[in-house]
Amino acid sequence: MKYINKKLTIENISVENIAQKYGTPTYCYSYKKLKENIYNFKKNFKSFSPLICFAVKSNTNINLIKEIKKFGLGADVVSMGELMMAIKAGINPKKIVFSGVGKTKNEINYAIDKNILLINAESKSEIIEIDRIAKLKKRKVKIGIRLNPNTDAKTLNQISTGKKDNKFGVNEKTFFQLVNYCKNSNNLELKCLSVHIGSQILDHKPYQKMLSVIDKVIKKVNYKFEFIDLGGGMGISYNNDKKKLNYKKYNTTIKKFLKNHKSKIIFEPGRSIVGNTGALISKIIYIKKSEKKNFIILDAAMNDLMRPALYGAAHKTLPSTIVNKRSNKTYEFVGPICESTDKFATYKNFQKLKEKDLIVLCDVGAYGMSLSSNYNVRPKPVELLIKGSKIKVIRKRQSYKDLI
Ligand SMILES: *Cc1c(COP(=O)(O)O)cnc(C)c1O
Repeated sequence: MKYINKKLTIENISVENIAQKYGTPTYCYSYKKLKENIYNFKKNFKSFSPLICFAVKSNTNINLIKEIKKFGLGADVVSMGELMMAIKAGINPKKIVFSGVGKTKNEINYAIDKNILLINAESKSEIIEIDRIAKLKKRKVKIGIRLNPNTDAKTLNQISTGKKDNKFGVNEKTFFQLVNYCKNSNNLELKCLSVHIGSQILDHKPYQKMLSVIDKVIKKVNYKFEFIDLGGGMGISYNNDKKKLNYKKYNTTIKKFLKNHKSKIIFEPGRSIVGNTGALISKIIYIKKSEKKNFIILDAAMNDLMRPALYGAAHKTLPSTIVNKRSNKTYEFVGPICESTDKFATYKNFQKLKEKDLIVLCDVGAYGMSLSSNYNVRPKPVELLIKGSKIKVIRKRQSYKDLI
């Protein structure tokens, strides 16, 4: 995305043209960026060629998943719906891992029937349930156990998952018990140790700590895991902040780890694959002036993009056309929904805006559309894939008929 003659463009198409043709609010994804992200991700860990399972929950658009599949990625799913979606998108079940703390009987049944690579179990009760179902089916089921490495990912509290008081995974002691349980089962094949310590991680140190915990646990348990699933969580830069995850250091740490453990590495990245591919185009409905602040009321709202309301996340906010006048008022970009958390960003010295101007919220490819809802009976936006000068509708805008 860049400005060409003061007009914001995505690949070769101006935001203005997109809005004219498809209306607003509208989600757009850049194919070029997607390709670049996948290429870079692979390059970062080239020496041990991991299995990369795209975390479907970050973006559940089936056409986007089809594109991701073409680059050879598998999928990490956390529900029956996501598993069906991944399979429907053509992802080979042999490259699908199933995570989550509350898989139901139905979900386990379905996963076993589809012969997926791994069910990553997160509790003793779940392992017993998988064992029971596998026995009924007279099957041997490949599973992983998710370890909670008690590692602070140093990210937002709401998206941290690897500390001992988080609901995810099992502690060391339980892990050892469960390995033994699996050894004694005729229907479970323990293949994997999995972890996932959180999301939007920009510091490599938590990953190093996580690997040292895994190293210690494997040595203690003395069991050969075919796979070590390190989860996802790699952060992206949202607000021009210079902080970036040091992939080189993460890669070096894993390579060192692999000298002692001959396992295949699995990653489950979501945000780092799709986060910066997406933009949400919206239009200013009204500008409401108050003494110190101007409220820029957009036609996009928290139901379209929930991250700011849910996590206090900030998304870079850009005008579609540059004008060279600055406002001396504070601008607060808000949606029209009746909730005080329905706001996106606050800026000082933003360029002067007027009603009907277009505003673009950046880096919304991950946990944007996938977290959207129909709150206030608002139809969900259209999704477009931009490829050079071509636009492909990859999901239609919902109509009121769909909702009512
Ligand atoms: C959400 C999630 C991921 C993906 O996290 P990102 O931060 O988007 O990379 C991977 N694995 C599991 C188990 C998850 O719950």
